[in-house]
Amino acid sequence: MSADRPRKVLIIGAGPVGALTALSLHRRGWEVELWESRYDPRGKNAAPSNLRSINLAISARGLEALRSVDPSLAEQFQNEAIPMKGRMIHHVDGKQESQIYDPINGQCINSIGRPLLNQRLVESLPPSIKIRFQTKLSRVDLDTKIAYGSSPEQKDADEHGTPFDLIIGCDGSWSKVRTSMMRMERMDFSQSFIPHAYIELHMPADPSRPGGYAIDKNHLHIWPRHSFMLIGLPNKDGSFTLTLFLPFSSLSTLTTREAASRFFIEHFPSAVQIVGEKRLLDDFENNPRGNLVTINCTPSAWSSHALLLGDASHSMVPFFGQGLNCGLEDVRVLNSVLEKHQISSTTNAKLGETDIDLELALKSYSVERQADLKAICELALQNYTEMRSHVLSPLHHIRRFVDSA
Ligand code: FAD
Repeated sequence: MSADRPRKVLIIGAGPVGALTALSLHRRGWEVELWESRYDPRGKNAAPSNLRSINLAISARGLEALRSVDPSLAEQFQNEAIPMKGRMIHHVDGKQESQIYDPINGQCINSIGRPLLNQRLVESLPPSIKIRFQTKLSRVDLDTKIAYGSSPEQKDADEHGTPFDLIIGCDGSWSKVRTSMMRMERMDFSQSFIPHAYIELHMPADPSRPGGYAIDKNHLHIWPRHSFMLIGLPNKDGSFTLTLFLPFSSLSTLTTREAASRFFIEHFPSAVQIVGEKRLLDDFENNPRGNLVTINCTPSAWSSHALLLGDASHSMVPFFGQGLNCGLEDVRVLNSVLEKHQISSTTNAKLGETDIDLELALKSYSVERQADLKAICELALQNYTEMRSHVLSPLHHIRRFVDSA
């Protein structure tokens, strides 16, 4: 009879969901290895590309998930985030209108720098977790449970591969783990793009204002223009990260600086005034145009060997501010399912064998999560029209809780 040994999980992707998954399974006693294709985000050696000042909204859902793994993490992020108690609508004539999310209980969403969130989560991982940065999953044999990675320094080191009991794909919307699972499983999969692109712009701090904030720091700012919009989230240094959402078809008409200038002055005069025309147009010309995609797949687990979490399993448009929050929630739900199925930290299953108890637990996770994930992706799409158009209607207050869930 073979002896029990620790279960080994190989997590692909040290984004926020991968890092929290690593911490959570380590706390359950698993042996954890984490691969990330990018540079190490910790310390002074972080590559510039890791340091873009993009921010996102973290809500009660995400904070609760962090708390379920480590209460001090949730507290730390809450202290580092800026509460946004409502949305501020910016009309074309310059009028601003505050719509408070929860006037009764004061619930809010919180703006936090994405690099900071990611960095802090990776920093929270203990040294006993083996982390390989600049290591890209190149292929995985799900039958034999062996993964192969490539990295600039260790081109041949992975010749024999890395064995695992379970591989978890936290490798984002274009997940390689998912592609491998689709070859093994009759996985239902859908992917659809919306016609809009997103472009990040920057509103610098204004030194003449308290804290440097040119507009109220405790709001999510929206310049809704029906078929397109600009939004702004506050940063700690007094600046705002702005995101323009605009159909690709309209974008293709803004090919010259003059045309872009006319567009911003006509539709977003207050933003032009604060940011300055040159800065706004420089960002508009130079920053990348991103796609917005909804991805659903089910089941999200295959046998006892593979599981998908975060964007790898469900990518959603950002208008509900829940993509990351929902990915963190995956980790909380997975934990509770492992608990319920009494999955211990050890196994005596051999490589290539199916671990029946774990298989049942993963299947149960996938079934339990399916309806909620589908619903939140749909709500995110609905909030797309809410934010760029319905907020301008006098009935908006009926719907005001919708993006504060
Ligand atoms: P990712 O953050 O994509 O991380 C995946 C990681 O895997 C990356 O680090 C990548 O380098 C690594 N990787 C990929 N392939 C490999 C490989 N083959 N080998 C090794 N490593 C690999 N969500 C919110 O909750 N609130 C918001 O306000 C919000 N705003 C958003 C605004 C915009 C414009 C967009 C586009 C999204 C927004 N989101 C928001 C969604 C949020 O960004 C994602 O849901 C979240 O980043 C998903 O986290 P993740 O860890 O699953 O994936």
